[in-house]
Amino acid sequence: MLNVLWPDFPPCAAVPIYRLMASQDPRGNEIERLASSLARLPGLGPRSARRAVLWLVKRRDTALVDLLASLTAVQESLVECHVCGNVDTSDPCHVCADPRRDQRSICVVEDVADLWALDRAKLYTGRYHVLGGRLSALDGVGPEDLAIGSLLARVEEGGIDEVVLAMNATLEGQTTAHYIAERLEERPVRVTQLAHGLPVGGELDYMDEGTLAQALRARRPVT
Ligand SMILES: [Zn+2]
Repeated sequence: MLNVLWPDFPPCAAVPIYRLMASQDPRGNEIERLASSLARLPGLGPRSARRAVLWLVKRRDTALVDLLASLTAVQESLVECHVCGNVDTSDPCHVCADPRRDQRSICVVEDVADLWALDRAKLYTGRYHVLGGRLSALDGVGPEDLAIGSLLARVEEGGIDEVVLAMNATLEGQTTAHYIAERLEERPVRVTQLAHGLPVGGELDYMDEGTLAQALRARRPVT
């Protein structure tokens, strides 16, 4: 019976039912691949990804074209700022290049997402420094794996009054903050850190702007 319907199958081959089901999948390979790619994005599961794909497919001449153009533009122009480590479409990034920013203050964050979260709150007017992670004995991340050397170099260059340590309120984040505070001890710079208004175990990228604002306002010297 199968050989009549699908003459390419070898004679007498037992065709598993899942292969027959797969051949009847209503979505083409390219659409399925797009859904799989979207499903890997943070906050999007397979179900939401399929809904997003369907939404885009229905708007292939408008939203899909715009999305494609934006993705291509970002992919082609994405660079890491050589000063602070921010990811932007220009180097130096728009924060470092902004003359209205306070050049005498550096806010140290673990990741680019933290920089973006703090900057969305529009309360901090200085510049940033992205470490690229946090110290972690468990994951084998040491000081040499983070952008601590370049931070010290920026401070050594002079003209910096304050370094704000804006690590996540996790054990590893605080360990990183204490390590950097120790390295800055001998330098003529005021070292502060975000107040613990943040929930223990919380990460900056997930905080609302009110919580971030309170934590930033209540920053205090490292003891
Ligand atoms: Zn920058």
